[in-house]
Amino acid sequence: MANLILLLGDQLSDRISALQAANPAEDRVVLAEVLSEASYVPHHPQKILLIFAAMRQFARHLQQQGWQVSYQRLDDADALGDLGQVLQRELARGHYARVIMTHCGEYRLHRQMRRWQAEWPLPVEIRPDTRFLCPLRVFRQWAVERKEWRMEYFYRLMRRRTGLLMTAEGKPVGGKWNFDADNRRAYDGKRPLPLLPATTLDEEGQRLAAMIAERFSTHFGDLQSFHWPVNRAQALHLLGTFIEQGLPGFGDYQDALSSQSPFLFHSLLSSSINIGLLDPLEVCQQAEAAYHAGQAPLNAVEGFIRQIIGWREYVRGVYWQTMPEYAESNALAAQRPLPAAYWGAPTGMACIREVVSAVRQYGYAHHIQRLMVTGNWALLLGVQPKAVCEWYLAVFVDAFEWVELPNTLGMALHGDGGLLASKPYAASGKYIQRQGDYCAGCDYQVSRVTEPDSCPFNSLYWHFLKRHQARFAEHPRMAMIYRNWQRMEAGQQQAILQRAEWLLEHIDQL
Ligand SMILES: Cc1cc2nc3c(=O)[nH]c(=O)nc-3n(C[C@H](O)[C@H](O)[C@H](O)COP(=O)(O)OP(=O)(O)OC[C@H]3O[C@@H](n4cnc5c(N)ncnc54)[C@H](O)[C@@H]3O)c2cc1C
Ligand code: SF4
Repeated sequence: MANLILLLGDQLSDRISALQAANPAEDRVVLAEVLSEASYVPHHPQKILLIFAAMRQFARHLQQQGWQVSYQRLDDADALGDLGQVLQRELARGHYARVIMTHCGEYRLHRQMRRWQAEWPLPVEIRPDTRFLCPLRVFRQWAVERKEWRMEYFYRLMRRRTGLLMTAEGKPVGGKWNFDADNRRAYDGKRPLPLLPATTLDEEGQRLAAMIAERFSTHFGDLQSFHWPVNRAQALHLLGTFIEQGLPGFGDYQDALSSQSPFLFHSLLSSSINIGLLDPLEVCQQAEAAYHAGQAPLNAVEGFIRQIIGWREYVRGVYWQTMPEYAESNALAAQRPLPAAYWGAPTGMACIREVVSAVRQYGYAHHIQRLMVTGNWALLLGVQPKAVCEWYLAVFVDAFEWVELPNTLGMALHGDGGLLASKPYAASGKYIQRQGDYCAGCDYQVSRVTEPDSCPFNSLYWHFLKRHQARFAEHPRMAMIYRNWQRMEAGQQQAILQRAEWLLEHIDQL
C-alpha cells in the first residue's frame, strides 16, 4: 500500500530522509502553505515569500521526477489552516499504509507530530534529519560525557568526523584548529566587495509576492529587494559566486561592521542551507577545495567551515538536548520590553538604525550585527529573552527555532546562564567603533560615557556589569574589567550609573 509523505518548507531536498526508499509511482508527497506556520510570529514578508516560492518550485521539480504531489496554496479556496488538517484530508482521499516525515526543526511542531503518532489510527514515522552532519544521538553522547559543552571541542570532533581540513596523519591543516584570532579586521573599503547574483522571480513568484504583500501587509519588512535563491540552481550559483568573490575576504572581515554594505564578505547562504537547497557538506567541501587550489587563505576557509560544521551543528544539538526548558530560561532575569527601534522606530543610534534598516530591506544581518549590535543592545538593556527571540525568529529569512533560539537566548543574551558561552558577549561602544564606521554617522559620541550625548552602550555596559557583579566578578576572563570598575572614583561610578539609569527610563527616545 502507498505511503503519504509530508515535506515541510525547510525540507526541500532530494536527499531528505522522508523520500528515501519511497516509490514515486505509488506514494504521495504533501506540501502545504498553511496560515498557522506563516503567522505564529509576524514573519518578514521576504521569509514567507522565500519559503513558499521555494516550496512551489520544489513541488514542480518532484512532479517532473515522476512524483505524485498534493500541494496546498495559501490562497486556495479550500485551504486548511494547519498541517494536521491537511494530512487528515489527504488520508481521507486515499488508502495509505503509513505517514512518513522527517524530524522537523522546531519543538512546537515536533510535539504536534508526536501527538499524531499517538492519536492517529495508522503508523506515523518520523525519520532523523540526515542533512545534518552530527546525528542527534552523537551530540547527546558527546554532551552527557561533559560538564561544559564548549563549541571548540565539539568542532574538533566534527573536523575528525568529516575529515575537513585534516591531514592524512589526522592533524588539523595548518597546525592549528582555529584561526579566529586572524579574523577581526575592520573593513577599510579597499578590497572590492563581491557582486551578488540577483535572483529573479518567475511570473508565478511575482504573483505570490503580490499576494504576500497584501495578506501580510502589517508584518515588518519590505519585499522589493528580494534576492534569495528559491531553487537549487540559484543556490548553487550563489555558492559559486561566494567561493570565488567572497570567501577570500571572509576571514579577515568576518567581524567587520560597515555602512558600505550590510553583507561584506559573508556568504548569504544560511537560508539556502537551512531550507535544503544546499547541503552543508557540499558547501564546506567547495570551500576546502578553494583552499587547496590556492584561491582562498586558510584563515578564511577554516573560519567558514567552523561556522557550518561547528556552530551550526552545535546549536542544533544544544536545542534538541535542552528543549523545552531551554526556551523558558532567563538566567539574568531580564524583564524589559523590546525597544520600538527594533521595529523601525526612528533612533539617533546609527548602529541600531543601520542594522534594523538592513533587516527591513533584506531580512538579513550578518553575525556580528546580530550578536554585537542588536543582541548586545538587548543584553545591556535587559530585554526579556522571549521578546528578543520572537523578534529574531520573525525578521530573518534564515530563522528557524533550532538555530535562532540558542544563538539568541544563549549566545547573545546569556539567558541560559552560560551553557553556550561561558561569558556574556557584552561590549561598550568602543567595540562597535573598532569594528567599523557606524559611529561616524551617529548622534552620540562614542568617546563619551556620562554626558547627555554620550554613546548609550558605554554607560549601560558598566551598568550591566554592576547589575550582575555577583554572577560575573569571579569569572577569570572578566576579573580585569571588574578591577577597572573598582579603580574608578566613586563620583565617576555614580555619574556612569546615573547616565545609564536615565537611558533606561528613556529607551524609546534615544
Ligand atoms: C542573535 C543571533 C541570532 C541568529 N539567528 C540565526 C537564525 O535564525 N538562523 C541562522 O541560520 N543563523 C542564525 N544566526 C547565526 C548567524 O548569524 C547566521 O547564520 C549568519 O549571519 C547567516 O548569514 P550568512 O549565510 O551570510 O553567514 P556566513 O557568515 O557566511 O556564515 C556561513 C554559514 O555558517 C553558518 N553559521 C554561521 N554562524 C552560525 C551560528 N552562530 N549558528 C548557526 N549557523 C551559523 C550559517 O549556515 C552560515 O550560512 C544567529 C546569530 C545570532 C548572534
Ligand atoms: S556612538 Fe554608540 S550608539 Fe552611536 S553608532 Fe557608535 S556604538 Fe552605536
